[in-house]
Amino acid sequence: MQTGSNAYQKYTGPHPDAIVHGAMKGRPEGGTMKALAWFGSQDVRLIEALIPDIIDEEDVVLKVTGTTICGSDLHLCVHIYFSHYTPEMFLIYIFADHGEIMAMQKGDILGHEFMGAVDRIGKNVTKLSVGDRVVTSFQVACGKCVYCKKKLSSFCEKTNDSTLQEKMYGKRDAGFFGYSHFTGGYAGGQAEYVRVPFGNVNCLKIPAEIPDEAALYLSDILPTSYHCVVDTGVEKGNVGGIWGLGPIGMSAARWCQLKGAKRIIGIDSVPRWPKSD
Ligand SMILES: [Zn+2]
Ligand SMILES: [Zn+2]
Repeated sequence: MQTGSNAYQKYTGPHPDAIVHGAMKGRPEGGTMKALAWFGSQDVRLIEALIPDIIDEEDVVLKVTGTTICGSDLHLCVHIYFSHYTPEMFLIYIFADHGEIMAMQKGDILGHEFMGAVDRIGKNVTKLSVGDRVVTSFQVACGKCVYCKKKLSSFCEKTNDSTLQEKMYGKRDAGFFGYSHFTGGYAGGQAEYVRVPFGNVNCLKIPAEIPDEAALYLSDILPTSYHCVVDTGVEKGNVGGIWGLGPIGMSAARWCQLKGAKRIIGIDSVPRWPKSD
C-alpha cells in the first residue's frame, strides 16, 4: 500500500494549488535533534534528524516543550467518532481502527499535537517573537484561501499537495503535521524542534500564567472533543453515553457536563478508571 501510494504521488507530482510543502531543510550551521520517526506499521524509532530551519518567510520553528501521542499515532490510522442525537439521548462512539494510512515514508517524523517556544522566525511573521510560548493547531492552514476565510481551516486548499488524496476523495483537506504524505508530508512535533508554516495563523500565544500542561491539549484533544459534542447537539438535561474513554472521550464527557447533560455513561473495554461510590 505504501509503495503504490508513494509511487502515484511521485508520478503525478505535487498539487499545483498548494503554496507550501512539507519539505525539510537543515540549518547552515548544522545540528541534529532527537525525533520519533516512522519506519513501518510496527517500527517507530528514536532517530537523530536535522534541526529544521525556516524555509518560507511565514514559517516559524519551535523548540518543542510539550507533545502528546494520539490514538491516531498509535495505529497510524484514522481516529473516528460517530454521534447520534435525539431529544432524549445522545450517543458518542470513539474508537480507533487498526488500518495503516497511506503515503507514509521511512523516516517521517511523527506528532501532530505539540507546543513550544518560538526559536526562529520568518521575516513575514508579524504576530510572534522569538521566545513566545505557543500551542499549534494540528492542521496547517494558510489563513488566506476561501475556506480559511470562512474559518473552515481543515479544508484549507493551499497546504496539502497530495494529488493522491484529490484523486481518491475528489478534494484535498488541509495539511496535517506528522501524518503522512497523504496530508502534506509535514514533519511532526514528536521531536525537539519543528517547522510550522504560516506562524501568524497556526500558532496561538499562551499567557505566562497558563502552564504547558493546560495549554497543550488545545492542539487537538480539546477542540476535537468539543466539535464532537457540538456536532452531536448535546443539550441541558440530556442523558447519554460515550463509548471510548481515552483523552478524547474523557474530554467529551467534560464538555457534555458543561453543556448541561444530566447523566453521562462512559463505556470502555479497559477497566482503568477508579470506581466512584
Ligand atoms: Zn490527535
Ligand atoms: Zn487556507
